[in-house]
Amino acid sequence: MVKAIKVMLIPNNVQKTKMFQYVGASRFAYNWALAREIENYEKGGRFLSDSELRKEFTKLRHSDEYAWLLNISNNVTKQAIKDACTAYKNFFKGLQKFPRFKSKKRSMPKFYQDNVKIRFSNTHVKFEGFSSSRKANKQKMNWVRLAEHGRIPTDAKYMNPRISFDGLNWWISVCVEFPDCRETLYDDGVGIDLGIKDLAVCSDGAKYKNINKRQKVKKLEKQKRRLQRSISRSYEKNKKGESYCKTNNVIKKEKLLLKRNHRLTNIRKNYLNQTISEIINRKPRFICMEDLNVSGMIKNRHLSKSVQEQGFFLFRKQLEYKCSDKGIQLIVADRFYPSSKLCSCCGNIKKDLKLSDRVYRCACGNIIDRDFQASINLKAYGERFAG
Ligand SMILES: [Zn+2]
Repeated sequence: MVKAIKVMLIPNNVQKTKMFQYVGASRFAYNWALAREIENYEKGGRFLSDSELRKEFTKLRHSDEYAWLLNISNNVTKQAIKDACTAYKNFFKGLQKFPRFKSKKRSMPKFYQDNVKIRFSNTHVKFEGFSSSRKANKQKMNWVRLAEHGRIPTDAKYMNPRISFDGLNWWISVCVEFPDCRETLYDDGVGIDLGIKDLAVCSDGAKYKNINKRQKVKKLEKQKRRLQRSISRSYEKNKKGESYCKTNNVIKKEKLLLKRNHRLTNIRKNYLNQTISEIINRKPRFICMEDLNVSGMIKNRHLSKSVQEQGFFLFRKQLEYKCSDKGIQLIVADRFYPSSKLCSCCGNIKKDLKLSDRVYRCACGNIIDRDFQASINLKAYGERFAG
């Protein structure tokens, strides 16, 4: 199975400068290729292939005006041109919107490295062309430190290595092929009920709380809101006619806000992954969850914020990914399956069940926690469809 691994980089200042240069060259090549395609189309020409464009670009590199491009690893611009061609082609196939020009302000800074030439050691990654000198101490410049040691295998085939900057840190993401690890699974399956009160309730009795109700997350949310307000106030104060002036103070605050946001996303993502791993590590034969109508729930303004914070969409995506890795069958119950309204003892459907009814009381004498019952029902549903 191909897995994507993303690891933070710890570059020194010289390396940081180099990486921003690479980003700039990548953006330049992308925009240049896109502009050439558009120009060509307007003249009534057909689609320019990326090999044609690359030949043209090589000539450009060797002209005096664009001599700065010669300091950049060839692969960076090569891939940027390829990306632009793919995006342009995909538009005509109807797969995506018309590609936009990359902007210094709006686009995420990123560039590509050649998958054959890239090297990994346990602690470092080697980029191409940061230093062209052969001397050993100069060659060190090519090796950028990795924040996590030993996460990326050192002897593998790497696919599509990309380096990006999220406003605070640099990251490398790379795809690596891993052998399939099929484990022997238990005979029992599990049903999962997702919700706002608790993130997940499992039919085997496990319960995962809503992390957004924790003190730490609430505190961070409060800090975030306070910062947002303060930033917007500063903007108002420094307004000059129609335009806004960005003072150093605002830049500082915006960086702080970015940090808070990253911290919150990391806490939430980490919690989702831990929850899923715990469920998967119990090796059930199948997992059954409900088909959540996430976009419909977000439209409900009473629920939208808490639904967004819970990250149900990410939960399902991660679950799908990890299930397929371990060979666990994932069953998604039909959207109209009444998992919470059904009595797990007699099969009666309680139509007037409200969201506020936390305990389910049935005429047959069954008294049970509502979410736990839903998970039992989902397990029963899965039992019917599991292979
Ligand atoms: Zn009943």
